[in-house]
Amino acid sequence: MSSLHLKKYDVCVIGGGYMGSAVALGLVNLGARVLVADKISNIQKASKANFGLVWSQSKGINHRPYSLWSQNAVRATRDFVKSLEEESTIDVELRLGKGMIACLGDKELEEKTQVIKRLHRAAASHGEEHPSQMLDHKEVQELVGKIPLGEAVTGASFSPIDGDLNPLLFLKAMRKVFQKKGGIFAHGCTVQAIEKNKENFVLATTQGKIEAPRIVMAAGHGNVDLAAMLDPNNPPEIPIVPEKGQLLVTERVKPFLSFPMSGLRQTECGTVMIGTTQEDTGFDVSTTVSVAARLSNRAIQIFPSLSNTRIVRSWGGLRVLTSDGLPIYDEIKGHPNAFVLATHSCVTLASLHFSLLPPWIMGKEKPKEIQPFNLERFHV
Ligand SMILES: Cc1cc2nc3c(=O)[nH]c(=O)nc-3n(C[C@H](O)[C@H](O)[C@H](O)COP(=O)(O)OP(=O)(O)OC[C@H]3O[C@@H](n4cnc5c(N)ncnc54)[C@H](O)[C@@H]3O)c2cc1C
Repeated sequence: MSSLHLKKYDVCVIGGGYMGSAVALGLVNLGARVLVADKISNIQKASKANFGLVWSQSKGINHRPYSLWSQNAVRATRDFVKSLEEESTIDVELRLGKGMIACLGDKELEEKTQVIKRLHRAAASHGEEHPSQMLDHKEVQELVGKIPLGEAVTGASFSPIDGDLNPLLFLKAMRKVFQKKGGIFAHGCTVQAIEKNKENFVLATTQGKIEAPRIVMAAGHGNVDLAAMLDPNNPPEIPIVPEKGQLLVTERVKPFLSFPMSGLRQTECGTVMIGTTQEDTGFDVSTTVSVAARLSNRAIQIFPSLSNTRIVRSWGGLRVLTSDGLPIYDEIKGHPNAFVLATHSCVTLASLHFSLLPPWIMGKEKPKEIQPFNLERFHV
C-alpha cells in the first residue's frame, strides 16, 4: 500500500462515498488542498449499494426545510451533472422529469393521497406549490406507455422533477474530477486516531500521519467512531443507525420503462432494478430469499409481464439514518473545525453537498438552509 506523499492539507475529508466525494469536490473547486481518506469496508458502503434515485416526492412530510432541501437539490442536479460530465467525460445516465411511486390496492392509494395532500398544504401555507401530484390507474398507464400495468395498480404519486441516474458512474465521475483538480484520494486509507496540536488535527492512518486545520467526517456509520476519537473520555454523540435495504437486479430485457417508479427502474443496459426494503437487522447486510420473493411479487403486480424475467443478482446495503431521519451537518461542539456530515439520500442531495457545504467548511457563515440540521436538536 502506497503511503501519502503529502503530509499537510487544508482539509482532510474522512470517507470517500457520496458525501465525502461531493464535498471534497466542492472544496477543491474553492482552491483548497484536500485529501480524502477512504477505508475499504464490506459494511460501510451505502454508496455502492444504492438504487440511483434523484428523489424529492414524499420527502419531508413533517419537516418543510427537509422537503425544500430535497426539492432544491433535485433541481440543482441537472447543472451539477452537466459540469461533472463535461469534466469527467463520464455519462452518468441522468434522467430527470418523471418519477412515480405506484400504489397497489385502495389502502396504499389512500395513504399516499394523504401524504401528497399534507405536502401540498404545507407548501400552500407558505404561498408555494409542491410539485408532486396523484395519478389514477389510467393516467399511470398513459405515462408508462405500451407495457400493460397490473390490475392491482390503483394509482401513483408523481413528480415532474424527480428522476434517476447510474449511481456507480456518478460516484466515479465525482472522484475523477476531484483528482483531476488536484485532490488526493487515498483509497484504502483508514483513519485510526485523531489528535490535535496547536494548529492542526493530526490523523494517524494506515498510510501515515496527515495534518490539516480542518477535518470533515463524512464516513457514514464510521462517523460514530471518528467522533469518539476526538474525545475518547467524553465521546460526542452522533445519533445514526443502520437500516438495511435489499434490492434485486434482473437479466437484460428490451426497453419498456423510461423513468423510475421508485421500487422499479430499468437501467440503460436493460436490467431492471427492483427494491428496496427497510429492515432493522443491525449491521447484517446479508440478503434473504423471503425478502427477494416479496420484492419480485410486488414488481410482478405492477408489471405482470416481468414474471418471465430472471433475477440475476441481489444485494443488501445499510442506509445511514439519523434517529429522526433528517441530515446532520454540523461542527462538533468543543472541537472547532471538526465537521460531521451524515444523511440518507446522498445521491439526491449531492448537488447541494457540493455547492453549499464547502464554503461553510472553509469558514463562511453556515447556510440558513442547513441550520435546522444541527446536532443540538437531539439534546432538546
Ligand atoms: C439499498 C440502498 C438504496 C439507496 N437508494 C438511494 C437512492 O435511490 N437515492 C439516494 O439519494 N440515496 C439512496 N441511498 C442512500 C445513499 O446510498 C447514502 O445516503 C449514501 O451512500 C451515504 O453516503 P456516505 O458517503 O455518507 O456513506 P458511505 O457510502 O457509507 O461511505 C462512507 C465511507 O467512509 C469510509 N470510512 C468509514 N470509516 C472510515 C475511517 N475510519 N477512515 C477512512 N474511511 C472511513 C467507508 O469505508 C466508506 O467508504 C440508498 C442506500 C441504500 C443502502
